[in-house]
Amino acid sequence: MKKPMHIIFLGAPGAGKGTQAQMLVEKYGIPQLSTGNMLREAIAQGTEIGKQAEILMNRGDLVSDDVVLKIIEDRIKKSDCENGFILDGFPRTVVQAQGLDKMFEKNKLELSHVFCLNVDDDVVVDRQAGRLFAPKSGRVYHARNNPPKVAGKCDVTGEELVKRDDDNEEVLRYRLNVYREQTAPVTTYYAKQGMVQEFDGGQNMNTVFNALVAAIDASAAA
Ligand code: AMP
Repeated sequence: MKKPMHIIFLGAPGAGKGTQAQMLVEKYGIPQLSTGNMLREAIAQGTEIGKQAEILMNRGDLVSDDVVLKIIEDRIKKSDCENGFILDGFPRTVVQAQGLDKMFEKNKLELSHVFCLNVDDDVVVDRQAGRLFAPKSGRVYHARNNPPKVAGKCDVTGEELVKRDDDNEEVLRYRLNVYREQTAPVTTYYAKQGMVQEFDGGQNMNTVFNALVAAIDASAAA
């Protein structure tokens, strides 16, 4: 039996984490665990967590570590995670990374890859203008770089694509600062463990994807 694969994606908002995670899901058949999508679902369902998260998310602040750690802890116990999973947008603080370490230890899981997508702020700002989101499937598209097959509709569910509530330049610039202050130290945390593999996230999405697949396949062959 193949060893389960546990992948972490690091990188600023708009670096392409969601897009690449989505592509890896299709290739390797393991789920994408996006804390952002899970929180947006909680908002749509009107849960207590959703109500608290909505205000923070709309202004670009992070949701509390306790809340996201609990969401992830519950999610990784589900049966579709048995062969592995791809974390997208988590961990976003060092406290979350430490919490994840404990969860891995408790559940006897091993981290396979930490991929960091590097991208300049102006690329992120440029990409943001075309970003589209499918609320039900959680899939992300881009009007120019990754258009849906039918304009304005999700390839999988056919639902109407929308702009996310936190997707405007002002909130994005704020989120980039939050990233630098609270999330960039997570890269240092994993770099100290020699785990980080860095990629130029400013490249075309297929070029980035091929590099990620090469990294995964190289470690599987080792
Ligand atoms: P994303 O969909 O990953 O861009 O996340 C959208 C928003 O959800 C973020 O700006 C945060 O407000 C919240 N969020 C998502 N993941 C986390 C996390 N791991 N820790 C704290 N807040 C998060």
